[in-house]
Amino acid sequence: MIIVQLNRQIFEYDVHSLVKSFYPGEDVKIVYETSPEEADAQLVCRLEFLKTVSNFKSEDTLPEQACEKEQVPTSHIRFQIRKNGKTESEETAVCTQPDDRKELKNEVKRLVYRQLSSYTRQKLPWGNLTGIRPTKIPMAMLGQGYRNVEIADYMRKTYYTSNEKTSLAIAIANRERHLLKDINYQNGYSLYVGIPFCPSICLYCSFSSSPIGIWKNQVDAYLDALCKEIDYASDAFAEKELNTVYIGGGTPTTLEPDQLERLLSKLEERFDYSQLLEFTVEAGRPDSITREKLAVLRAHGISRISINPQTMNQKTLDLIGRRHTVEQTKDAFHLAREMGFDNINMDLIVGLPGEEKADVEHTLQEVISLDPDSITVHSLAVKRASRLKMFHDEYKEMTFTNNREIMDMAAEYAARAGQSPYYLYRQKNMAGNFENVGYSKEGKAGIYNILIMEEVQSILALGAGASTKMVWASDRIERIENVKDIRNYIDRIDEMIERKRSGIHE
Ligand code: SF4
Repeated sequence: MIIVQLNRQIFEYDVHSLVKSFYPGEDVKIVYETSPEEADAQLVCRLEFLKTVSNFKSEDTLPEQACEKEQVPTSHIRFQIRKNGKTESEETAVCTQPDDRKELKNEVKRLVYRQLSSYTRQKLPWGNLTGIRPTKIPMAMLGQGYRNVEIADYMRKTYYTSNEKTSLAIAIANRERHLLKDINYQNGYSLYVGIPFCPSICLYCSFSSSPIGIWKNQVDAYLDALCKEIDYASDAFAEKELNTVYIGGGTPTTLEPDQLERLLSKLEERFDYSQLLEFTVEAGRPDSITREKLAVLRAHGISRISINPQTMNQKTLDLIGRRHTVEQTKDAFHLAREMGFDNINMDLIVGLPGEEKADVEHTLQEVISLDPDSITVHSLAVKRASRLKMFHDEYKEMTFTNNREIMDMAAEYAARAGQSPYYLYRQKNMAGNFENVGYSKEGKAGIYNILIMEEVQSILALGAGASTKMVWASDRIERIENVKDIRNYIDRIDEMIERKRSGIHE
């Protein structure tokens, strides 16, 4: 365990995340006073605010005994690394704008990063950035008129991002701006519809998806509730302009053809598609795709689908509980092409249990040989809810390999296939502290993916576990959550609608 001792209740989440980035396998515990656990801790990191001007909100106030009375316009911050009762390293930094919360936070993160980087002899590719949306920084700066070189300089100095990640973030931000140029930020919105069923549950899954086999008899009741929510939401958003639709989950193609038909007809009847730029259905699992279902999608004008292999190594598919074959992935892809789908995405995961570089390379070769229009490369994130985490003991002998070489290899394969990066996000607990990157051919990028990451437009989300995100003109963002449990969603649909009714007005 690593103990992080703070003398002030501020930035604890950021400091915790940053320490965890250096020690991903360790428990990191935040404490506010000397803790008896320190004796057994592998490391004790002490962050002290020595002198401060505290104009922050009440939750940021200093604990009485820790606060120096002196109020001077300079804040000193000390970070100390201790091991076995001895100080291993220490540095004091000065923040010249301590009344500016953002400046003070940046100073704290830089100090913690410098110390841990030198102590562990590690440089993190994203420097001290711990958030999941690193492209938001260059996006915002481009919007304010900064040039690429100025943004790069700012990112490297402020966040210590590597040259490579700085360039990647800026390149993606430029591409995103171009892709979003026709999006109506003020009056436009996107629609997400969640289908929370899957053929089987993957070992690493942290979504609230349920096996279709068990829920088969409840799917119609789920669609009844969903249709009720669609009725309310389409009326509530009638004055707005619908720009993109994404049906995800789960695996939407676990629905039978007549159920898919019912859902898509309902959406078509209730929403105005005249300003629609993209309609994606995440077909997802190859074992759920049939000619009849694809025919329904085609008949309703779905412009983009995803067929997700994750890996093209059968032994890994078996291990992670996907219960489909490599051949099924290829067959589903060829079938979709034959039926006229000209924008197909394929999702891959790097860092799957037992996979080394050669296994990932095999997957990339197989996928690229199919010539999809876009690929999304995910770094495995073992979230708290996944079975992999829950049954940690059972699976702890597995190796999880991801490194810069593998991520670079994926980027090279994508480039050779004529695809450039267009969106990027990070997750907590991601293997190797890397990121997820979407690559696409020209004109085939998933616009919804960018919108959800950049938070520039409201997303109306329907279905169990769906989270509506209202983005107000003031840049304020508010979420309206639906319950995750399917039974609860069905039984409490009126309550879900009420939640929306009270949350969608500023
Ligand atoms: S296909 Fe996706 S949503 Fe379904 S179980 Fe696997 S990871 Fe979860």
